[in-house]
Amino acid sequence: MDAELKEVLEAFARGSGKICVLTGAGISAESGIPTFRGPEGYWTVGSREYQPQEMATYEMFTQHPEEVWRWYLYRLSVCRKADPNPGHLAIAEMERLFKDRFTLITQNVDGLHLRAGNSLTRTFQIHGNISFMRCADACTEEPFPLPDVVPAKSKDDMMTTEELHLLRCPNCGGMTRPHVLWFDETYDEVYYRFTSSLRVARETDLLITVGTSGATNLPNQVVWEARHRGAILVDVNAEENPFGRAALSSPRGFFIRGKSGAILPGMVEVFRQAL
Ligand code: NAD
Repeated sequence: MDAELKEVLEAFARGSGKICVLTGAGISAESGIPTFRGPEGYWTVGSREYQPQEMATYEMFTQHPEEVWRWYLYRLSVCRKADPNPGHLAIAEMERLFKDRFTLITQNVDGLHLRAGNSLTRTFQIHGNISFMRCADACTEEPFPLPDVVPAKSKDDMMTTEELHLLRCPNCGGMTRPHVLWFDETYDEVYYRFTSSLRVARETDLLITVGTSGATNLPNQVVWEARHRGAILVDVNAEENPFGRAALSSPRGFFIRGKSGAILPGMVEVFRQAL
């Protein structure tokens, strides 16, 4: 690790400042879950191929609810097979080390941070969680866990009547939707911790961004707010990206190019020795 970055992280750990980690799909790539910008994401409906940015929309759900559910059940089966990797485990260790100085904001819907040991209280799942569903008519705000008996789906599996029945709202019996934020929807506090995330951005002294392309709205606001407030910015990404550039153009910013599973454990070690 760069000697200057090591010194900055040690000094941060010895102080009392707050740390926020903001993660994107890249951190789960090493667990075998494809990112959205990779080549594997398309989905076929009828004779047309759709990109994730078209599938993950309220508009698509209103036109083809079964197809959208089928796509999510396929993605859920990929998530169920995946395990947390050393990057997730390192972030869970950061929470153990920093306790209430720590917050995790994740765009990932795969639940791997929670399975790695991060607490739900300190983890803001700002795009929801694929293992939950909620009433499509919003009869209640409560997300319900997807029943375990809902089967894994391969790309060619169709939905059965029985499966569609399992996906009915436990409260009103109506249709449910996946508990995720779609590209044509807006953030809110109730489901997606919008206000809480911006508060954390204002209060954080160290922001570590990991594996995100910077293409979504709230993460951008978090990064620019933290930068504006003079936080230390560290971006970890396999490729150059807007958050790496934001870090490098800030007075106290660093960009580490590489895989999160290889880099984050080294950062934890620096923190552990400094504390
Ligand atoms: P993205 O797909 O737009 O970008 C992924 C980023 O990760 C890229 O910048 C890439 O260079 C980087 N990356 C890839 N492998 C990496 C590695 N091993 N280590 C470090 N960096 C790596 O993802 P995004 O910015 O999170 O935004 C897209 C949306 O996709 C979000 O809304 C998110 O909810 C959704 N999504 C989630 C999952 C998941 O839950 N695992 C998977 C796919 C998409």
